[in-house]
Amino acid sequence: MSPMMRATTDNGLLAPVPDADGAPFWDFATRGELRIQSCAACREPRFPPRPCCPKCQSFASSWRLVNGTGHIWSYVLPHPPLLPGYAAHAPYNVVVVELSDAPGIRMVGNLVASPDAEIDSAAPEDLRIGAPVRAVFPQAQGITLLRWTPERP
Ligand SMILES: [Zn+2]
Repeated sequence: MSPMMRATTDNGLLAPVPDADGAPFWDFATRGELRIQSCAACREPRFPPRPCCPKCQSFASSWRLVNGTGHIWSYVLPHPPLLPGYAAHAPYNVVVVELSDAPGIRMVGNLVASPDAEIDSAAPEDLRIGAPVRAVFPQAQGITLLRWTPERP
């Protein structure tokens, strides 16, 4: 089994399981690039990756590099019952981030204090709707993750 197909990391957190449409996203992430699938016909960005443009129904797509910044659009603090790997970090956060370069594109992840920090590392004052954040790509056991850190002005 390749590292990309594992369901969890060694510490019990869920790992990405890319499908054919999403594999390029994770390949770019491994290189430290946040790229959004966009329609090659009308340029409409879309996420999660999928075969067909929801705006013009074209099957042609490209991967547009974005600057990796965004803001917290929403967040939650999950409560038990949690998977064991997550219970060990509770309370932690799950954020929904809207991208600066692609308004309307929102991604789910965790806000962390630094790229390699645990999911319960973010300072409470950094966790607020509208807070600026930046994508980071920590690697664990050969698996690239997408997380978010506070963007300092
Ligand atoms: Zn289109």
